Amino acid sequence: MKNLRELILVIALLTITSLNAQQAKNVILLIGDGTGLTQLYSAYEANGRNLNIYSMPHTALSITNCSDKRVTDSGAGGTAIACGQKTYYSAIGVDKDSMPIPSMLEIFKDMGKKTGIIVSCNLNHATPASFVAHVKNRDLYEDIATFYLNGKCDIFLGGGKDNFDNRKDKRNLIKELQNKGYEIVYNEKEVLNAKTNRIAGFFAPGHLPKAKERQTIMQTCLKTTINKFKDNKEGFFIMLEGSQIDMKAHDNKFSDMIEEVNDFDECVRIALDFARKDKNTLVVVTADHETGGLTLPATGKDMDTCAWSTTGHTATPIIIYAEGAGAENFHGVMQNNEQFHYIMKAATKND
Ligand code: MG
Ligand code: ZN
Repeated sequence: MKNLRELILVIALLTITSLNAQQAKNVILLIGDGTGLTQLYSAYEANGRNLNIYSMPHTALSITNCSDKRVTDSGAGGTAIACGQKTYYSAIGVDKDSMPIPSMLEIFKDMGKKTGIIVSCNLNHATPASFVAHVKNRDLYEDIATFYLNGKCDIFLGGGKDNFDNRKDKRNLIKELQNKGYEIVYNEKEVLNAKTNRIAGFFAPGHLPKAKERQTIMQTCLKTTINKFKDNKEGFFIMLEGSQIDMKAHDNKFSDMIEEVNDFDECVRIALDFARKDKNTLVVVTADHETGGLTLPATGKDMDTCAWSTTGHTATPIIIYAEGAGAENFHGVMQNNEQFHYIMKAATKND
């Protein structure tokens, strides 16, 4: 009798524990392209020692090499995050043998979740492309654009209009998207006024202007997309990229880079505000690689002193930050493709 009582107690405890291990109904993944430790710390200093990303409780290191090079590009780096496999330099959504591999966006869509992509670059650029397309090389911009027609992504907002309606094959993909029921928007105001939850936004022929000039459009896009998706029974997945942190780091432009980080960090704040109220949301902030080999030496006036070691990418591991349901999975040192598996694990835990 005593044993039976103990057994019941153990079963009850196990039940409570498994109920506590929360499933992430919603996932907001924020990728700072080219964003290493120093890029974030520079913005923290410039902001009076404040950064929303630094309020996230779980961290891990990510080793960013691709399958054939020590220093990755954003194609292989994005594919590792989006699809869970290390692949060759400049690959988009394909493995080492150029075979298509499903992305988390596609898997989440099949699970009934609403899906969104928000970027400050061309929508066909390597990072967003890794979530929607499967092509041998990142330069195939016009091919990549056609993947948005498959309907797997409910809301996509960014630049790159020319790859949709100013194409070599003369197809007008914006018309085709409209025929498939997408609402088309061209600026921040139209995002705010959008009536449906299936929206394609084209804010520039190529990349968006820099942070100072595009003002609050990224935050408006994220807030609007969360609001459109939050009542979906099966939840949602949103990938937002701070695309131009990398670009300013390639140019070795310190203050422009900091403005891009701040813009990205404001998006993180919006994601965290929602997740902290919602309690069923996993927020992950990550990067595909470090750009510029940025260091902060002790010379001159602290705040403006920096030194770049390259105009390209580096092999230095980056930091992953996580908060919310399933965030406890993120700790220690991991390979860049492992974060895919931890995100999937968090989102499917109780299935
Ligand atoms: Mg990118
Ligand atoms: Zn780059």
